[in-house]
This record gives sequence, structure tokens and C-alpha cells, in this order.
Amino acid sequence: MTTRPISEKAKTMPRNAIREIMELAGGRKDIIHLEVGEPDFSTPDHIVEAAYQALKEGWTKYVPGAGIPALREQIARRASGRAGRAVEADRVVVTVGAVGALYTAILMLCDAGDEVLIPDPCWPNYASIPHIVGATPVRYSQLASRRFLPNLDEVEAKVTAKTKAIMINTPGNPTGVVFPGETMRGLVDVARRHDLYLISDEVYEDFVYEGEHVSASSFGLDEQVFVVSGVSKSYAMTGWRLGYLICPPGMSDLATALQDPTVASAAAATQKAAEAALASSQDCVAEAAAIFRRRRDVLLQVLGNTGLMLAEPDGAFYALVGIGDRHPDSTTFAKALIAERKVATVPGLTFGPSCDKAVRVAFTIDDEVLRQGLEILRDYVEGG
Ligand code: PLP
Repeated sequence: MTTRPISEKAKTMPRNAIREIMELAGGRKDIIHLEVGEPDFSTPDHIVEAAYQALKEGWTKYVPGAGIPALREQIARRASGRAGRAVEADRVVVTVGAVGALYTAILMLCDAGDEVLIPDPCWPNYASIPHIVGATPVRYSQLASRRFLPNLDEVEAKVTAKTKAIMINTPGNPTGVVFPGETMRGLVDVARRHDLYLISDEVYEDFVYEGEHVSASSFGLDEQVFVVSGVSKSYAMTGWRLGYLICPPGMSDLATALQDPTVASAAAATQKAAEAALASSQDCVAEAAAIFRRRRDVLLQVLGNTGLMLAEPDGAFYALVGIGDRHPDSTTFAKALIAERKVATVPGLTFGPSCDKAVRVAFTIDDEVLRQGLEILRDYVEGG
């Protein structure tokens, strides 16, 4: 075996506590799983069938790097609806999951030493992706006391000469926050004033229970705004690995070229499945949203009056729950909760330093099991 070291980037890659929890809880049937961030139902039949047909028809070969034209058209139609005006299909790049879109955008914008503003708390890959390209993630806070909305003055104060982009996420993981239009407009204005790119992750756009989803694309700053979304959450397609990036005009060719040495393209049959998902009836999305709304009601019933929930989630399918005083930190708490009560949650620290006194729960499981898991969590925190 060689003694030559692995890369510095690999060595210093931020690790997150989800992995530890998955090792303890993953796949165990004796545990109530409040940690899993994906819909529990299967991809709707008509989408699976479309992929099956596509494979039989020969969609088994290389496809264009930016995506199959018919899918790009469907995505552009969806994005136009969100933007409130036409989004051209040539701005769409189909990616391997929404995570692929985030990676491609950062790869395109950042050199080593650049800074990227990311929320605290946020999905952990917001920190890992800049790290991979040698850029520095700089956190702005989304405090529970502000219902997890960003403070625009603080965001602006974090901008330096090295800042390239601001990453935002609404509806939000892990908070369930939904940015109102004025917050979104304010963020777009910060990007405009400071000549920055705004990368807006809207992958939970179909799951909103209070207020409405307002896309960053609706404020006319196309040259500086990237929109990230996909089919993973809306159509229960997490395993298909299909997302997309809406690029500023003129930037999609470069995004496509950057995908070439990493993934080349998303898989052909997966793209055909996504095309079917977007082109056919959207009833399955409405049904999924209704299920999550119902489960959110369960969450509010169990935790609503306890003061334990840091804020009521208005969207996505997550909430942050305080862990009380008996445990020193969220990782110790989450491990103890599995060991002593057989309920799995994600330590808040995974999402940012501000959340080490909370865990994330996902309302992605059967209503009654969810109720049971939340009651156990509540009683455990309250010392029962
Ligand atoms: N963005 C956020 C905020 C997420 O929570 C996730 C997955 O949990 C993703 C992106 C990744 O989505 P995909 O599975 O399409 O890569």
C-alpha cells in the first residue's frame, strides 16, 4: 500500500452526524424512524411504467448532457409557472438529483478562496459542496426566534469582496420555513446590490401548508439567479436521482460542460420517468401534499402546546424540536433516544452550530407511528 496521502479536501471534508445515526438506526424494524428525509410512499405507477416503456423502447444509451429536449421543455414549462413569465428551455440543465444542480452551480461560480453564504441551519451539503471546490462556506443565521427567516441586514453584513454567491432554501430543510415574498425579494435585492449570484434551492416547492411558495425567479434578476429543484420529493423519486438547474441566460452550456467529466448526464430512463411525471396529471403531487399536511397536523397535536417545537413548519416535511437540559448536545441526545426509547432523529448539529440543542424530525412515516414516535420524543425530553 502506498504511503502517499489522500487529498486534503477528502481528509477535511465535513462529516455529519446523520451518518452515525444511520449506522445505529438504519434499516432497523424495531425503531421508529423520524430521521428519514424522503416520502415513504412509492413512485406513482404511471411514472414507473413510463420508465419501463422507455427502457423497452431503447432509452438505454447516452443522451445529451443538458438533458433530453422533451424533458427540458417540461421543466421550462414548470419553471415558467413559478417565475410568472417564460423561462426558456435552453436555460435548463438536467442534473443528477438536486444535489447535482447545487454542485454544478458552485463548481461554475467558485474558485479556491471564494466565499459562499449559507444558512445556519441548512442541509449539510451546503457546507460540503463549497468545501469540495476549495471555497469557504460562511454562515448567516436563520434563528428560531425569527421563525427561521433570514435577517437581511445580517446577510448583507456578511458579504465581503470574496463572496460569490448566496445559497438559500425555501421551503426549508431542516426548519420547514417558507420565505414570504418580501423576504425573497429582499434576498434578490441583496444579490443585486452586491453583484452576487443567488442559488435558490426550491426542491420542496410543492409542500407548503401556510402561505405560498415564491420562487427567486419571480423578481426579474435572471442574470444572477440560479434555481435548483427536481422530482425527488414531489413525486417520491429520491432514488431515481433527477434534478435540474435553471441557469442565467447564456450559462447553461458551461454548466453542461462541467457535468461532462463528473456525471456526463442524468440516466436516460430516469429522464423519461421525470418527463412523464411532469407531463401527466399532477394529482399525485396534490395527494402527497395532503398526506404531509395531515401528518403535520399530527405533529402540531403532539408538540403544539409543549413549547418544544422551535417553530411550526409551514412547508417541507421537517421540524426542529428542542432537546431540553438533560443532555449536553444533540448527538448525545439522539444516540440516547435510539438506545433507550428506540426512536431515531437527526442531531441538530448536523445542520449548523446554532442547532445543537435540537433534533430534526421528519413527518414522512405513517400517521399513527409518527404520533407514537413524537409522543415518545416529547415524554423523553420532558423527563418522562
Ligand atoms: N436540497 C435540499 C434542501 C434537500 O433537503 C435535499 C435532500 O434531502 C436535496 C437538495 C437533494 O435532493 P436530491 O435527492 O434531488 O438530490
